[in-house]
Amino acid sequence: MRLSRYLLPTLKETPAEAQIASHRLMLRAGLIRQEAAGIYSWLPAGLRVLRKIEAIVREEMNRAGALELLMPTLQLADLWRESGRYDAYGPEMLRIRDRHERELLYGPTNEDMVTALFRAHVKSYRALPMNLYHVQWKFRDEQRPRFGVMRGREFLMKDAYSFDLDEAGARRSYQRMFVAYLRTFARMGIRAIPMRAETGPIGGDLSHEFLVLAQTGESAVYCDRAVLDLPIPGADTDYDGDLEPVVRQWTTPYAATEDVHDGERFEREVPAERRVHTRGIEVGQVFYFGTKYSEPMKALVAGAEGGERPVHGGSYGIGVSRLVGAIIEAGHDEAGIVWPDAVAPFNVGIVDLDPDDAQVDAACTQLQASLQAQGLDVLHDDTGERAGVKFARMDLLGLPWQLIVGRRGLAGGTVELKRRASGERLELPLADAVARIV
Ligand code: ATP
Ligand code: MG
Ligand code: MG
Ligand code: MG
Repeated sequence: MRLSRYLLPTLKETPAEAQIASHRLMLRAGLIRQEAAGIYSWLPAGLRVLRKIEAIVREEMNRAGALELLMPTLQLADLWRESGRYDAYGPEMLRIRDRHERELLYGPTNEDMVTALFRAHVKSYRALPMNLYHVQWKFRDEQRPRFGVMRGREFLMKDAYSFDLDEAGARRSYQRMFVAYLRTFARMGIRAIPMRAETGPIGGDLSHEFLVLAQTGESAVYCDRAVLDLPIPGADTDYDGDLEPVVRQWTTPYAATEDVHDGERFEREVPAERRVHTRGIEVGQVFYFGTKYSEPMKALVAGAEGGERPVHGGSYGIGVSRLVGAIIEAGHDEAGIVWPDAVAPFNVGIVDLDPDDAQVDAACTQLQASLQAQGLDVLHDDTGERAGVKFARMDLLGLPWQLIVGRRGLAGGTVELKRRASGERLELPLADAVARIV
């Protein structure tokens, strides 16, 4: 991609309305544009990050055996009356009337709809366990939308819903999602810690929130330092096998959000030097809620011995758009964003120091082609700005690798390679540059 033909409206000034680093940097790096309070357009570079995060979430959901579908953003109010949630949900719900005066709402979550969908199509235990998920925009009319995409009103969520014949099955489904979440966040280059949590308006009796530790997080959290460096389950995890040991390992050290924190237990179980009290960003949550929806909505399945009973359910959310902000909170410095390789909008930025020189341009074009042939995304800064401006912009955008190509270096057959995270620079022959990166 040539920057001269790209839409990357970077800002030199720090936007006054942005209170935290990720919001400031997302605006400054030209990733998003605010359209209304808590409602954003995703500009090309921002959308690339969002899509990469989404792709990782999908791969790990599919690996864990979940089935992707797509439910609409608009839902009938009557559906929510059936589950008994319509009146209870309150002002966070955006209620809409169509031209026929039918009451609709912009979905804040999908338990009710997916339960109706399941009820219509699944009648027997033989299809279970089943887990249905989608990646869809949600709307919650938050009291205080803030921090950019971290607390938006319209936001992208992955939500999965499990269906099982009984509680034991549902707990296994919960464990599958728990393990899939550990892998999902680790693949994005961040550590999200599962912590015991309140169930809130989703309901139920078992829940964990996954939190990225950061001072700018909105939740106070308490944990045993031991939970911070537990091993992440591998790609070869057998999701049909027994996942209880992994979940037990991760849930044994004390880790709780402030809502369920038990100060006495914390001090009893965790030695003083291992006590961590900090803040966190909630990037995902898993719930087991039993028959909370299947009972009122009559989502029944026939068991092996006949006889119908309400299915046991759980729901599992990931804040896909919030993750873009959370990853930046976890990875930035004074100069700008420092993207993990897996979610960077481009893997490599080529800084063309002499864009008017045909030879330099040819070398950049060739480098770009070789990198792309290796499956890497490349942004080629071919603009006519000063070198200093280009370096600063590349650092702000935070691409993991920078290749600096100029007339002077090329005369000696070399280019400069810079690793954004460490600042390390290396001068090397043109031909070796690609091999260094891949
Ligand atoms: P919060 O406590 O931050 O309000 P929540 O507990 O209400 O979030 P859930 O119902 O658990 O949210 O939704 C699943 C995930 O969706 C959350 O873990 C979070 O990552 C994301 N999410 C929730 N609300 C927002 C929002 N307003 N903007 C962006 N992402 C959100
Ligand atoms: Mg909320
Ligand atoms: Mg919450
Ligand atoms: Mg939550």
